[in-house]
Amino acid sequence: MNANAVTISREFPVNAHVTSLIDGEAVKPKAGGEDLPVVNPTNEQPISRLREADADEVDAAVRSARRAFDSGPWPRMDINERKDICYSIRDHLRKNAEELAYLECLNTGLPLQSVRVHVQRMARNFEFFAEVASTMHGETYNQTKGYLTVVTREPKGVCAAIAPWNAPLALASMRVATVVPFGNTCVLKPSEYTPLSMRRMVEVFHEAGLPPGVVNLVNGRGAVTGNALVSHPGIDMIGFTGGTTTGRMIAATAGKNLKPIALELGGKSANIITESANLERALDGALAGIFGNNGQQCLAGSRILVQKGIADRFIEQFVERARRIRLGDPMQPTTEIGPLAFRQHMERVLSYVDVARADGSKLLTGGRRAEQPAKGWFVEPTAVLAPGNDARVCQEEIFGPFATFLTYDTLDEAIAISNASQFGLVNYVWSDDLKTVMRCSRDIRAGTVWVNTPMMRELRAPFGGYKESGIGRDGPTSSVDFCTELKATIIPVDGVAMHRYGA
Ligand code: NAD
Repeated sequence: MNANAVTISREFPVNAHVTSLIDGEAVKPKAGGEDLPVVNPTNEQPISRLREADADEVDAAVRSARRAFDSGPWPRMDINERKDICYSIRDHLRKNAEELAYLECLNTGLPLQSVRVHVQRMARNFEFFAEVASTMHGETYNQTKGYLTVVTREPKGVCAAIAPWNAPLALASMRVATVVPFGNTCVLKPSEYTPLSMRRMVEVFHEAGLPPGVVNLVNGRGAVTGNALVSHPGIDMIGFTGGTTTGRMIAATAGKNLKPIALELGGKSANIITESANLERALDGALAGIFGNNGQQCLAGSRILVQKGIADRFIEQFVERARRIRLGDPMQPTTEIGPLAFRQHMERVLSYVDVARADGSKLLTGGRRAEQPAKGWFVEPTAVLAPGNDARVCQEEIFGPFATFLTYDTLDEAIAISNASQFGLVNYVWSDDLKTVMRCSRDIRAGTVWVNTPMMRELRAPFGGYKESGIGRDGPTSSVDFCTELKATIIPVDGVAMHRYGA
């Protein structure tokens, strides 16, 4: 099927009430619980209600994950059997791809075409990390005379997995897929704004044969459900994807309770456009880098640094193209940018237009709530030219279709500007000159440097941030380190002489 040729193959039912899923069972809403609205950002209409999990419900979910880890089959299962279940999850995700993509598009406003790609990626995540789990190995040492020491890796336990709203399927599945194939269990808390696809995703895991209790789902606000989860004594580790401010709070809780933590946080990534670049490709890349995923992505190339000799022409062409971007119903295949995910977020993004003006930035295009479509939280693709890298629009993550331009003279200056940030998630560079590329690769302080390409995600490579963009990495080696314990078993080979106290 040519995905570009279709809108949606069909509509899928939406639960009137989204509840937690614990021990493989949907939780029935308790009388008197707190309900939160779930809203379609495209038409601002309520589509469902979310029943918030309180501390008792979180406790039930952690206990379920604990039981599944401490006495259930999952960590004890033959790796081939566990791998078969992960492959079955991959297949069931693919089988249910249209429904998952539909629910996510309805609830987040992300273009359906992009969400379809995310669903395929999440299926791959399970396949990939199941393979990593099955090839993971230990070590042996026999250098010390008379002893054999065997180092084995064991699953670490119960993970509190917390995910954001900007790409729920791709990001929440990453939190689960980097943990569960190794024999761990988890409690997943997605964002309270975008629960629809999450609930269906966890159901699909169970339809694929995942034993009850291995993945439990709780829903609700960060301060209520999220906080109850990360501070629960029954968890063994925390995997968090979200904002830097929240990450800091969660890390403080984790520190107090001595729980290991992996943090994938925010970014304000520089996109360096050099005079030695193929400018047509660089222009395509710069637009994709900031306007992809409705501009709501941690790895957005949101600070576009253009070398002075090409700056006027490049910025002019960028603005021309930005004005032609098609906003609209995210279910339509021709739509390039859908609505922002919720009203407060749209208001926050728009508030940066005043911030930009106050800082002395020049508004190049956009800067308003879109007039068309008339309903929905649409923001015009926006670009500003900042007076310098200290401007707030260069330092703060705006997380919307909002590009900030800066110009520079030399590569040294571009690298210095790139690195002058609290963040260090990713960086883009556009150049056909090898020396320029190698300098950037060496000197840029970010977890990923993309050369002449926007956002190529290589699962085999570590992904994560320097500085306040995170702690730890998702990737085969780093995920094994994060979610397994190392155990050394020391065995005497011959009888070893011992002092015999009191003999
Ligand atoms: P957020 O930090 O507001 O929320 C993320 C999750 O944390 C949500 O599920 C929220 O309910 C929960 N939460 C909030 N307070 C909590 C608390 N006190 N205890 C426990 N949980 C709590 O982030 P967001 O607005 O949902 O997502 C956008 C942010 O995520 C951006 O900063 C973006 O850069 C970042 N992000 C990073 C990556 C990455 O891979 N580095 C990927 C996607 C998004």
